Amino acid sequence: MNGKLLVIGFGPGSFEHITERAREALQESDVIIGYKTYVDLIAGLLTGQQIVSTGMTEEVSRAQEAVKLAEQGKKVAVISSGDSGVYGMAGLVYEVLIEKGWKRETGVEVEVVPGISAINSCASLLGAPVMHDACTISLSDHLTPWSIIEKRIEAAAAADFVVALYNPKSGRRTRQIVEAQRILLQHRSPQTPVGLVKSAYRDRQEVTITNLQDMLEHDIGMLTTVVIGNSSTFLYEDLMITPRGYQRKYTLGKTEQPLKPHQRLQKEAEPWALEQTIAIKQEQKPQAVSSRDIAEQALLAVTGGEYKNEKSILTQAVLSIFEVAVSPGVANKTFTPAQMMAIAEAAGEEGTITYTPDHYVKLQVPTDNPQTLVEKLTARGLVLSPIGEVATVKACDFCDGEKKDSIPYAEALQENLGSMELPKELKIGFNGCAMACYGAVQEDIGIVYRKGAFDLFLGGKTIGRNAHPGQLVAEGIPMDQLVNVVETIVHEYKETGYPNERFFKFFKRKKTLQGFQHEDVTPKLQIEPAACGD
Ligand code: SAH
Repeated sequence: MNGKLLVIGFGPGSFEHITERAREALQESDVIIGYKTYVDLIAGLLTGQQIVSTGMTEEVSRAQEAVKLAEQGKKVAVISSGDSGVYGMAGLVYEVLIEKGWKRETGVEVEVVPGISAINSCASLLGAPVMHDACTISLSDHLTPWSIIEKRIEAAAAADFVVALYNPKSGRRTRQIVEAQRILLQHRSPQTPVGLVKSAYRDRQEVTITNLQDMLEHDIGMLTTVVIGNSSTFLYEDLMITPRGYQRKYTLGKTEQPLKPHQRLQKEAEPWALEQTIAIKQEQKPQAVSSRDIAEQALLAVTGGEYKNEKSILTQAVLSIFEVAVSPGVANKTFTPAQMMAIAEAAGEEGTITYTPDHYVKLQVPTDNPQTLVEKLTARGLVLSPIGEVATVKACDFCDGEKKDSIPYAEALQENLGSMELPKELKIGFNGCAMACYGAVQEDIGIVYRKGAFDLFLGGKTIGRNAHPGQLVAEGIPMDQLVNVVETIVHEYKETGYPNERFFKFFKRKKTLQGFQHEDVTPKLQIEPAACGD
């Protein structure tokens, strides 16, 4: 009769977190071998199996005993907490077998039954701290030279991994965690969130949220796992959360502006992806390859590949992209050379300056400190507007200020509505004379100044093959009423528009807006809808 070795990870400790297969495997076994505390933890699941429990440091003899019993034809369960392949018994069992010349074909059967490891069980109690690239490091230097552990901490810290420290401290090993903290602090902010979980899913469970600087002021022991956040990990309601992306896009007045799900996987939204980086280099667009890249390549060439500028790669990886629309003014359309210089300086080597289909200059800069940038640009008289689902006032140049009567109204709209967050981006076109040469009537809301009063157009469809102008809803709105009328309409859109609902659809659905009746101005053409790129 052939015996079998079942190397079982029983998870953090509670019966709900043991896998079905692990339960069955325990039942199937004739003998259970494990560290006494662990055998006690699963005692409730046993049905009369022979128990061989040993002290914690007797792993080797435990594995030898298990192999011996299996070779005698017994089904032997070797138990580990968490996963038996993570600082558990699985490797050791194989090592003992290998030493005896074991072969898969002819030797005893081995089954490794996976379990929930501490990094996962502890993470679940802390919030969602792992989420992104993470590693486990055991601080136990009984079997591993400290010089190697130290190197691994250093590497993980530098590469911005989330780190789960196993075996952080014991009665005799107290300095390792102090050293680990010192190394981590060389690469990460003292405020980096840290979670301490003791005895996850066991009776004496304790969960503590602290930070890298203060973590040693709390109780850390043999039963603790220390989870150290990466540079993006944040705290919310005492939960540690690591966002999925390194990159966040954000704009004026908003802390964060994540991409919509459908935009996420578009290439343009991922300029940092490997393929994009290669594509840029292959096309040899000199403007897209920064001088730093060139310098780094040159250094690589002269050092024969020795040179590694980890710092620059890292700062790129963790910085957020701040994006903002820049213009010389609401009515003024002329950039001065000094303003152009200021924009170029703000973009620097890593940023981009884009001229958009909406006739504005978009500035995108990797930075976590947009304030300085904003101050420098506004000091040059530039007007900055947020990008995204906000209201934008697109005024004409009022014939370079010759037809200036209505400028204050455009400025008042910019002041009151510009940047307001809305269900979808909303363009308010404002033209200073009946020529309407800046195309105000093509916008979501169009305003045309004529004979001392305003004409109002609502619900233009600004893009697509069935684009159409807005519907003329009112002629001759008195000057002092204009701002109020437009504001009321925009507020109604803000309050009652569905998320992502464009203004023309909103008008159509509502049928009336502030007393203005909707009429269908869609061209009577049958046009198949087409997605981008079709
Ligand atoms: N095989 C186990 C790890 C064994 S090493 C696993 O996969 O989880 C022992 C270390 O694991 C402990 O020092 C502690 O850091 C961690 N650990 C194991 N179980 C834990 C639990 N329930 N709560 C917190 N940490 C735990």
